Amino acid sequence: TMITNHMPTAELQAIDAAHHMHPFTTNDELAEQGARVITRAKGVFLTDSEGNEILDGMAGLWCVNIGYGRTEMAEVAARQMAELPYYNTFFKTTHVPAIALSQEIARLAPEGMNNVFFAGSGSEANDTNIRMVRTYWAEKGKPSKSHIISRKNAYHGSSMGSGSLGGMDYMHAQGGMPIPGIHHIGQPDWWAEGGDMTPEEFGLARARELEAKIEELGEDNVAAFIAEPVQGAGGVIIPPETYWPEIQRICDKYEILLIADEVICGFGRTGNWFGSQTFGIRPHIMTIAKGLSSGYQPIGGSVVCDEVASVIGATEFNHGYTYSGHPVASAVALKNLQILQDENILDHVRNTAGPAFRAGLEGLADHPLVGGASVIGLMGSLPLTPHKESRAKFAGEAGAIGLMCRERCFANNLVMRHVGDRMVVSPPLVITPDEINIFMDRARKALDETW
Ligand code: PLP
Repeated sequence: TMITNHMPTAELQAIDAAHHMHPFTTNDELAEQGARVITRAKGVFLTDSEGNEILDGMAGLWCVNIGYGRTEMAEVAARQMAELPYYNTFFKTTHVPAIALSQEIARLAPEGMNNVFFAGSGSEANDTNIRMVRTYWAEKGKPSKSHIISRKNAYHGSSMGSGSLGGMDYMHAQGGMPIPGIHHIGQPDWWAEGGDMTPEEFGLARARELEAKIEELGEDNVAAFIAEPVQGAGGVIIPPETYWPEIQRICDKYEILLIADEVICGFGRTGNWFGSQTFGIRPHIMTIAKGLSSGYQPIGGSVVCDEVASVIGATEFNHGYTYSGHPVASAVALKNLQILQDENILDHVRNTAGPAFRAGLEGLADHPLVGGASVIGLMGSLPLTPHKESRAKFAGEAGAIGLMCRERCFANNLVMRHVGDRMVVSPPLVITPDEINIFMDRARKALDETW
């Protein structure tokens, strides 16, 4: 039988559970209650197979920056598909969409970052980065500079390389990660781990773990440090103000390449084009994906500074993906960047939606379950706690309250995700103040029902 949106939901869910292996999901979860079937979306609202209108507080997976249902994106894709659906960028061939997109990314990127290596996703781009930084140092005559330092609870993707860069223990427990030569220092999560220190003291202490790790490994053995400007999947962890300047000082002092993973922070999420700009970071490489195309097509890449790119290009870099610079994905991403500019969406984040979002989340912080609100641009988190002052954890299974709250949000037609007992939010950047009010009303109802 043909599967369509008009089939009964239970039937769709049964077929889905029988054949479709979902990321980060157990069979039991799907058997208990089938996956919610999303049929269409417009703006910030999803529609499911039962006709519910769900406010998407996560922009899909932190990616639909321009919102859903942009027909101009569909038109660009259709036109490109008809004209040149595919060609590769290997072996001295190129095409207009990849040319135009690389130029536009270079124009928007921080000064001196004029080079883009394309990939199909953030995971692939981070795999590229591992090989690129090691190759860079080898070409510079320092092959021992091969170790890479990352952070616990970081998320950099799911492939062997990017999952190894990531600092998720539950991922490392499966399938032989991390690969050798990757090390993890503590994260700047003051809320959960700061103890009695002030945020400023804690930020410095966590940054100095990088220096200690470099000294332990020997600076001649360290290629790079990778970090998200703000950890997203780790729980929207906004580092204390002291953190990034100290990290930058340490990278400069020891000649360590700095990779900023901008997969979530890039393309307006923190109110600037890149999180690196928001935090005053000077990376050598930035990982991009997600908001690059607002999720309308799969595409990612590494934005590379001139020095690293010139060394990498001096000999053949034996690396690339069939879909590096895919013409349809590139054309769609370029259109997305145009929309972000034509509609002044970064201004909207900085001056309209961001302040309303901050006020709304800070308003929710008076709820007895909520310990506070961390917000930057249009990403934020609400840690749930039984005791605001001490930032205590709930007794019992970690994340149980967060999961319950997420389920109550979903039942109230709001997508909010939980990371342990933290609720995290990252709506489309085009969300309006009225929609933010709807968000906050639904979130408060869900919190009341969880309490
Ligand atoms: N880096 C960061 C910071 C991410 O948040 C993600 C995905 O969530 C990735 C990399 C991996 O990207 P992808 O899922 O496109 O492979």
